[in-house]
Amino acid sequence: MNSIFSNTKEAFSLKSNFELSRAQFLFKIIENKTLVKIFTFLTKIALKIYLPVTPIIKMSVFNHFCGGISELDCIPIIKKMYQKKVSSVLDFSTEAFNSEEEFDNCYDKKLSIIEFVKNRTEIPFTVFKPTCLGSIDLFKKKTNGETLNEDENILWNKVVLRFERVCQKAFENDIKVLIDAEEVFIQKAIDDLAILMMLKFNKKKPIVFNTVQMYRWDRLEYLKILLNDKNINDITFGFKLVRGAYMEKERLTAKSLNIKSPICESKLETDVNFDSGLDFVFENLNRISLVCGSHNEESVIKIMNIMKEMNIDNNDQKIWFGQLYGMSDNITYNLADKGYNTFKILPFGPVRNLMPYLIRRAEENTSVKGQTGRELQLIINEKRRRYLEKS
Ligand SMILES: Cc1cc2nc3c(=O)[nH]c(=O)nc-3n(C[C@H](O)[C@H](O)[C@H](O)COP(=O)(O)OP(=O)(O)OC[C@H]3O[C@@H](n4cnc5c(N)ncnc54)[C@H](O)[C@@H]3O)c2cc1C
Repeated sequence: MNSIFSNTKEAFSLKSNFELSRAQFLFKIIENKTLVKIFTFLTKIALKIYLPVTPIIKMSVFNHFCGGISELDCIPIIKKMYQKKVSSVLDFSTEAFNSEEEFDNCYDKKLSIIEFVKNRTEIPFTVFKPTCLGSIDLFKKKTNGETLNEDENILWNKVVLRFERVCQKAFENDIKVLIDAEEVFIQKAIDDLAILMMLKFNKKKPIVFNTVQMYRWDRLEYLKILLNDKNINDITFGFKLVRGAYMEKERLTAKSLNIKSPICESKLETDVNFDSGLDFVFENLNRISLVCGSHNEESVIKIMNIMKEMNIDNNDQKIWFGQLYGMSDNITYNLADKGYNTFKILPFGPVRNLMPYLIRRAEENTSVKGQTGRELQLIINEKRRRYLEKS
C-alpha cells in the first residue's frame, strides 16, 4: 500500500546498516515456519541444559526486540526514540509467575519502574500483566463468581492491594497505567479490578487504561454496557483497543470444554469488530481516552481519517498509538513524524526470562499472514534506498 507508512527513510532512521541487515536476517528466518519450530526447539533445550547460548540470543533476536537487561540499559534506546518523538513504555518481563513471593517481587519491580519513569517525559505510561500480581487460580475463581475460602480471600485482598498501590503510585506521579488483557477464563476479574481502579484514579483525567480485545465477539456489547452504567458516569474511561493475542489457545480451550469459542470466527469478523470498537470510542470521545495497540496499517489509517473528520489535533492527548519494539517501525516513526502520539512497548529483563516473549514474537510473525513479508519488503526497500543514495 502506498501510504505515509511506505516512507522507509523515516521508519528506519534510527537503524544502522548492520541493524537493518540483522532485522532482514531475523525476519527471513521467522518467515519460515519449519525453521522457527527448529530454532525454538533447539533454544529451549540449550537453555534447559545451560549451554552458553545466551550471548548469541542477546546479539540477535533479543537486541532486535528488547531494550536490554535493566532499565538503565534501555536509556540510550529511549533517548534515541524520543528524538524522533516516539515515547517508550518499559515492560519488565513477567511470565508464568505463580508464588506469592514472585508476585511480591513483581509488585516491587513495578513500583521501582514507576520510580524510574517519573519525571521522564519520554515514558508517559507504565504497564503490567495482571497475572504477575496474583495467582491465575484466584482470577479464574473470581471470574467464575465462585466463593473464595478464608485463605483465598486473604490472598485476593493482596492482589487488589497490589493493583491499587501500583495505580496509586502511577497516579501520584502522573503516569498512565496500561493493564494488559489475558485469556477469557480470567478476564472478567481483571476487567472488574480495572474498572475499580478507574473509579479511584480516573476522576480528573485518564490514568488507568484497561485492554479490550476486539477478537472477542462480545466486547462491543461490553463497552456499551460500561458506558451506559449510571454508577460509573463521573470518570474518563481509558481503553487500549487490541485485536488479541491468545486466539489459538482460546479456540483450543473452547473446543476442549465443548463451548462456543469467545473469538470471532474469521479475521474479517475480527477486523469489522475492531473497526466497530473504534467507531464506538470516537462516538464517545468525551468520556473515553484511547490507546490503539495495533500493527495493522488499515486500523491506524482509519483512526487518522476519523481524527481528521472530527477536527481532532494529531497530538490530542486522548489518542495514542502503540507498537512493539522491533516491529512496524514504518507505522510508529511515520505517525510520530506527523505529530501523532506514539509509543513503543520496550520489553526488558534477563534473556532467559524474555524467551517466552521472543518465541511468541517469532510464532506470531510466522502465523500472521503478510506481516513478516511486509517487514521484510520494507527493510529491502530501505536498503535499496540507502544504496542508491550513496551511489
Ligand atoms: C501496544 C500493544 C499492546 C498489546 N497489548 C495486548 C494485550 O494486553 N493483550 C492481548 O491479548 N494482546 C495485546 N497485544 C497484541 C494484539 O492483541 C495483537 O495480537 C497483535 O497486535 C496483532 O494484531 P494487529 O492488530 O497488530 O494486526 P493484524 O495482523 O491485523 O491482526 C492479527 C490479529 O487478528 C486476529 N486474528 C487473526 N486471524 C484470525 C482469525 N482467523 N479469526 C479471528 N481473528 C483472527 C488475532 O487477534 C491476531 O493477533 C498488544 C499489541 C500491541 C501492539
